[in-house]
Amino acid sequence: MSKAWTIHPNPILAQAEALMYGLGAGWLYRVHQDLHQGLQLPKLPADQVQATYPLSPLVKALDPQQEYSRAARLYRELLAGRDTVTPELYGDLVDAVTSKWAAEGRLKDNIQKRAAATYMLGVLESGRVSTAPASGLLDRPEDFLEGQEVRPIRFAQAKAGEYITSLSQRTRTQVKQVLYQHELSHGSPLELAQRLNDQFRVLNRDWRRIALTETSNNRAQGFLGSIPAGEQVEFSAALDCCDRCQAYHKTVWTVVSPEATDRDPDRHVWVGKTWQDGGAAISMHPHCRCRWMPVLRVRGDMRQDIEKRALDLLAAARNP
Ligand SMILES: [Zn+2]
Repeated sequence: MSKAWTIHPNPILAQAEALMYGLGAGWLYRVHQDLHQGLQLPKLPADQVQATYPLSPLVKALDPQQEYSRAARLYRELLAGRDTVTPELYGDLVDAVTSKWAAEGRLKDNIQKRAAATYMLGVLESGRVSTAPASGLLDRPEDFLEGQEVRPIRFAQAKAGEYITSLSQRTRTQVKQVLYQHELSHGSPLELAQRLNDQFRVLNRDWRRIALTETSNNRAQGFLGSIPAGEQVEFSAALDCCDRCQAYHKTVWTVVSPEATDRDPDRHVWVGKTWQDGGAAISMHPHCRCRWMPVLRVRGDMRQDIEKRALDLLAAARNP
């Protein structure tokens, strides 16, 4: 199993990654299941489906005998009495199931809430514990935080919203291509089931990469945003990190305001700094699990009140 599928050694961060990953993976699985049933494809065994959605607890065998969802049933009705399937019918089915599950899962709202929670984990790691109610803070950060503190959360949420929108668009496009190609070449139903499964595996793997990288990135921004300009932070490379990150391990950087005109990428870090700016940044690359640590402060992950607060935030983000 590739590195992307290893579970984070820190249980709280493992939960944070699962929070971001689980939303997209759960959505993909529901769309996949609806398509499988709507097209009445033969049964795919649970282990094949599980391999498509590693670490997802909700996966079962894909079985055409299960009760149809509404979208799948409508599709069967649409097909009744036709002897050929047009590309438009396939396209309609894909559009129907993807938008149905995006709406029912309130996909964009949910990923934005989860992105805010991962950002707040970084704030906690700086040692700052807010007493605001966790769910209120995630829903309406502007009611509890200063404008300057809300701004980077809004950007983290906007990015996450774009990523999940893009997942849903890519799913539509790529699944339609699989269906068109299959119909054109008159493949067997089992071949189609397997091709769809392969396509969803690629979509889910890509989503996993985004979920991990954004979790790390949001935490890093939340952390840096909570450290006053002038204080120092240390780059702490993840245990399984790449050589580039390892070279920065234990190096010390000074936090500056993102508006500072004299910021120097070889000595300074700031909210929103990326590896393209030069010097250290987190995340350095996809799947980067490195982190910033306080140099002078008590380390956030050693305090029980911080751990409890982190778990509260994750729970509030998980249960809309
Ligand atoms: Zn790294």
